[in-house]
Amino acid sequence: MAGEFFRTWKLHRNFLACKCSRKCVKGFDELKMVTILDGKALAEKLCNSYKKKVEKAGLKIKLAVVLVGDNPASEIYVQNKKKRCMDVGIGCEIRRFKKEISEEMLISEIDALNSDKEIDALMVQMPLPKHINPRNILEAVDTRKDVEGLSTYHMGRLSLGNEDVVPCTPKGVIRLLDEYGIGLAGKDVCIIGYSDIVGKPLATLCLNREATVTVCHVKTKDLGKHTRDADIIMTATGVPKLIKKEMIKQGCIIIDIGIKKLRENVVGDADFESIKGRCSHITPVPGGIGPMTIAMLVENMVEAAERKLKQTE
Ligand code: NAD
Repeated sequence: MAGEFFRTWKLHRNFLACKCSRKCVKGFDELKMVTILDGKALAEKLCNSYKKKVEKAGLKIKLAVVLVGDNPASEIYVQNKKKRCMDVGIGCEIRRFKKEISEEMLISEIDALNSDKEIDALMVQMPLPKHINPRNILEAVDTRKDVEGLSTYHMGRLSLGNEDVVPCTPKGVIRLLDEYGIGLAGKDVCIIGYSDIVGKPLATLCLNREATVTVCHVKTKDLGKHTRDADIIMTATGVPKLIKKEMIKQGCIIIDIGIKKLRENVVGDADFESIKGRCSHITPVPGGIGPMTIAMLVENMVEAAERKLKQTE
């Protein structure tokens, strides 16, 4: 893959350019050992293919994104989604609501979008203000427009092995592993975090692929005991430097889903610098699972439009 080649080349270039023998050895060890799982490059490649599909089949898709309040991080995520949709040829409308909106009023706005014939896909940007129960809002979205697969209907189908509309972040993890030829069957997978949008569906996807899955969380007594046994660690907590070198076994694969803004930098859950010489593969933050999440949102929309087209033929 071009992205992987480029990153390996950069390590190689640093190794060759280095005048210090100690650094050179370090650089050489990293070059031998770590593969960066380049989600950004794969997302780019996938979105180019969706664009071709949309053009070729003449698919007309419009997404409505419900955004409540003025959370700056949510604003950035929503704008990124809109930009990606437009690149692919999908319409995207952001419906903004004040943070004071009541749960009942928001549900009635979602009902209106459910019956709006112009809107094919609908998603609600999380988090919502504290007075609104996110589960009630996700349940209000028509399952035929639920492009994130977060309704009870799609989550239930997923747990029974039907993966037609799968939550975007976990789906992005599996797609990235597939791209690098990393199978899950028989692997010991440790997932950290059990949220409805990441940890739970990710555990189900891994089980559906016959991995042996351990799910850890904030109340887990000895996190390192579980991570040290894992062939693959998938972490989604938002706690910087949670995963350190001494917590992983040699050759382990790290999927870092966490996102935390620290001053000007965005970091994940893994202490990247300390563990990169010990793991065999790692996702960078940024540039790993983030772009894959948006690519999977686009994929879910394109697949839904293709299914609809088939039904009408
Ligand atoms: P959440 O707050 O719903 O869940 C966090 C989970 O982490 C909980 O299950 C909690 O028990 C666990 N946890 C917290 N502290 C821990 C600790 N010290 N040790 C072990 N477990 C701990 O969050 P979420 O919505 O699942 O998101 C988790 C992280 O993933 C956040 O940083 C979020 O920004 C990021 N995220 C990234 C993407 C992406 O596209 N890359 C998508 C969704 C979420």
